[in-house]
Amino acid sequence: MKTAEIRRRFLDFFVRNDHTEVPSASLMHHDPTLLFVNAGMVPFKPYFIGAEDAPYARATSVQKCVRTLDIEEVGKTTRHGTFFQMNGNFSFGDYFKEEAIAYAWEFSTGAVEDGNLGFDPERIWVTVLDGDEEAEAYWKSVGMPADRIQHRGLADNYWNMGVPGPGGPCSEIYFDRGPEYGPDGGPEADEDRFLEFWNLVFMQEELATVRSKTDFDVARPLPRPNIDTGMGLERVAYLMQGKQNMYEIDQVFPVISRAAELSGREYGADATSDVRLRVVADHVRSGMMLINDGVTPGNEGRGYVLRRLLRRAVRAMRLLGVTDPVLPELFPLSRDVMADSYTEIAEQWQRISDVAYAEEDAFRRTLEAGTQIFDVAVSDAKKSQASVLPGAQAFQLHDTYGFPIDLTMEMAAEHGLKVDRDEFSRLMTEQRERAKADAKAKKGGATNVEAYRELRHGGESTFIGYTELETDARVL
Ligand code: ATP
Ligand code: MG
Ligand code: MG
Ligand code: MG
Repeated sequence: MKTAEIRRRFLDFFVRNDHTEVPSASLMHHDPTLLFVNAGMVPFKPYFIGAEDAPYARATSVQKCVRTLDIEEVGKTTRHGTFFQMNGNFSFGDYFKEEAIAYAWEFSTGAVEDGNLGFDPERIWVTVLDGDEEAEAYWKSVGMPADRIQHRGLADNYWNMGVPGPGGPCSEIYFDRGPEYGPDGGPEADEDRFLEFWNLVFMQEELATVRSKTDFDVARPLPRPNIDTGMGLERVAYLMQGKQNMYEIDQVFPVISRAAELSGREYGADATSDVRLRVVADHVRSGMMLINDGVTPGNEGRGYVLRRLLRRAVRAMRLLGVTDPVLPELFPLSRDVMADSYTEIAEQWQRISDVAYAEEDAFRRTLEAGTQIFDVAVSDAKKSQASVLPGAQAFQLHDTYGFPIDLTMEMAAEHGLKVDRDEFSRLMTEQRERAKADAKAKKGGATNVEAYRELRHGGESTFIGYTELETDARVL
């Protein structure tokens, strides 16, 4: 089943159950606490905190998401993309736990002919918050045996914003991919074999003081609790399509195939090359979706993230041995597979491709300049019979020429040299500390969370996102 069809089925299921279908917001949807939308609930925040009245009691959407926090995971785990789509159903003071669990169960395990996913119920596991007896009872009532319901603490199964406002337990739904992927014992034992594909959040109380994610005081139960769920579309797609990971689904794999062809590799033959090919496919798609929503490459904030993604894709191709321009080969493939769900990509194509290809050209010039410095450093090292390239030189390459450290390492290895990683890391940390101090000085010492509090007390409706604050803006 194609990803676009799973998306459509999800929306249709919830529309049949009286939800209003709401289109995805832009990845750049305004939220002062986030660089990009990172969860389906983000555009609905004003309704959840009661700052605005929801125009509907129930909604469903498939939201474009970008999580820069997951960038290092890409290609290494089976389940993390920088861009992904989150299917969601939402209740604004309308239905609660019982229905949310019943809907999730029906859509996951109901018959394919009836518009559901048809997952084998025996392979589903769930987690609930320790002490959330209601959720446990509702899971049992849909037929989930007690030994496939696992209990977890606040750190894993409690959602809150890190600041006063709504909070509540969550219940996550996992699919057992089978013993060939890891040990028995449910998600508690192995999150690769047991793949989390859906998270149900039960917003049921108002938090007063929040000292940390797991240390807070509950002020009172919410008079009208809310439901917020997020199902990873790509994760469901790879389960439905019988693939090993989310990069092998119909919306991503054609880019891997082409990248493999261009580099003369066979996907599946070598683990290191496979990770690189997956990074390429992931970053090409994320880059395209970000440009589609109006992001342009730059040196800070959102532009920095886009630059980092595009350059990492180009770099990964170079590490696979391809030195010709690659984005003109790969972007059109990503466009074609995403077109079913996002018709605006074709309309915006000229602009999207111009922005991407210009960034690759700029990076290629950077690489040329950096390569000259690199060559001098190598010949110096060889002259002095050193086997290690000084970290300071790697840092200069990175800092002045935007030369990624693993490219420096790879190129050094070709000359039989190592790079002094410790020194490099130390210099990077120092630089980050300096940047932090600068930023703090500029803001007069206020962190984002404090800025939020000020806003909130000023009566504005805004709060910290679904997961962590995403302020990480290191390039490469
Ligand atoms: P994980 O524990 O696997 O990192 P999560 O708990 O951070 O996932 P949630 O914040 O609960 O994820 O998001 C809801 C759903 O979105 C998840 O159940 C998953 O299906 C999907 N999802 C989350 N992060 C990603 C990602 N980086 N790539 C693809 N899908 C994702
Ligand atoms: Mg995560
Ligand atoms: Mg999780
Ligand atoms: Mg989760």
